[in-house]
Amino acid sequence: MAATIWYEKDADLSVFDGKKVAILGYGSQGHAHALNLRDSGVDVVVGLRPTSKSVEFAKEQGLEVKPVGEAVAEADVVMILLPDQYQAAVYKKDVEPNLKPGAALAFAHGFNIHYGYIKPSEDHPVFMVAPKGPGHIVRREYAAGRGVPVVVAVEQDPRGDAWDITLAYAKALGALRAGAIKTTFTEETETDLFGEQNVLMGGVNKLVEMGFEVLTDAGYQPEIAYFEVCHELKMLVDLMNEGGLNKARWSCSDTAQYGDYTNTCIDEHVRERMQYHLKRIQDGSFAKEFIDDQDAGAPKFKALQEEYSNVRIETVGPKLRAMFSWNKDAVKDADEANSFTGKIARAQVQ
Ligand code: NDP
Ligand code: MG
Repeated sequence: MAATIWYEKDADLSVFDGKKVAILGYGSQGHAHALNLRDSGVDVVVGLRPTSKSVEFAKEQGLEVKPVGEAVAEADVVMILLPDQYQAAVYKKDVEPNLKPGAALAFAHGFNIHYGYIKPSEDHPVFMVAPKGPGHIVRREYAAGRGVPVVVAVEQDPRGDAWDITLAYAKALGALRAGAIKTTFTEETETDLFGEQNVLMGGVNKLVEMGFEVLTDAGYQPEIAYFEVCHELKMLVDLMNEGGLNKARWSCSDTAQYGDYTNTCIDEHVRERMQYHLKRIQDGSFAKEFIDDQDAGAPKFKALQEEYSNVRIETVGPKLRAMFSWNKDAVKDADEANSFTGKIARAQVQ
C-alpha cells in the first residue's frame, strides 16, 4: 500500500483563527516550533519553568513566555517538546490539571503515548507532528523558505477535527513544503527507536569508533584513520540521500564496491541482534529500562555518557577537525546551534 503524503494545498491555517498554541519547552524542537508557528501567523505562547535559562532567550525573540501551567490553561493546542523522560511528570503536575476541555495535545515523538506513560482523557484530540530532522534544521529550513519533512499521526479524535489540526500544525511548521507522511504512534515510536539504536546512532557511531581503534591500534596515523572512517562518511551519506545505496556505490571505485560486497563486517549475526533489539522495543522492555534509570536519577545513563565521551576518536577528534580548513564553518555552526541550550554539541537524531 502506498504511503499517504500531504503537502501545502492539503492543509488550512484558518484552523488556528482565534486559537492559541502552547509550545512547552524551548530546546532543540521547542524553539523551532515556536518561531516557525509564530512566523506563520499563529498565536503562540511558550511554556517554561520560571528557572529555565531559555526564558530570556525566548522573550528576546519576541515570544510570549509563561510558566507551564499558565501557558496550558489558555491554549487550544498544547505541543509537548520536553525531553521524553520528563514529559509524564510535567503532564501530571502542570498539564493535566490546567488543560482546557477539548484542548488538543500534541507530540513530536510517540514514546509517552505509545508506552502509556501519558494517558490523556478521551475528550482531548491527541496528535503527532514529528520532524525528521533536528530542531535547528527545522528552523533554518523554514527561514530559507523550505521545510523539513514530518511524519504525522492521530491517536484520539473525539470531534473528528484532529487531522485538520494536525495538518494545519504541520503547515505552520513549514513541513508541508517538504511533505507529511501518515503514520501511527506505534509505528513512529518503534521505528524511530529501532533506527537510532541500530543504524543512525548505535550502528554508525560504533562502526566509526571501532574502525578508528582498529586502524590506530595497527599503527596507522590517527589523522589518516579519521579520514577513512569518519570524515568521508558524510559524503557517502549525501550520495545515499540523493540516489540511495546504488548512487553511493556507483560513485565509488570498483575496488571499493567489490570490498563492500565481499568484506563487510556486518553479517547475519548483526541481523539477529537487530531483531532482538526490535523485540525489546516492541515489548516495552527498552522503554522501561530507560525510564526506570531516568526515574532513579539516571545513574547508568550518566555513566555511559561519561564513558562514551572519552572513546579514543572523541579525544583526538577536535584536534583533527581543527586541522581541516574546509571543516571550520561546520564546526562553528555546530557550536552555535547548541550553545543556546547550554549543551555540549551533540548530534541529535530525531
Ligand atoms: P531538548 O532537550 O532540546 O529541550 C528541552 C526543553 O525542555 C528545554 O527548554 C528545557 O528547559 C525544557 N524542560 C526540561 N525539563 C523540564 C521540566 N521538568 N519542566 C519544564 N521544562 C523542562 O528536547 P528536544 O527538543 O530534543 O526533544 C523534545 C521532543 O521532541 C522529544 O519528544 C523528542 O523525542 C522529540 N524530537 C526531537 C528531535 C530532535 O532533533 N531533538 C527530533 C524529533 C523529535 P529548561 O531550560 O528548563 O531545562
Ligand atoms: Mg528518537
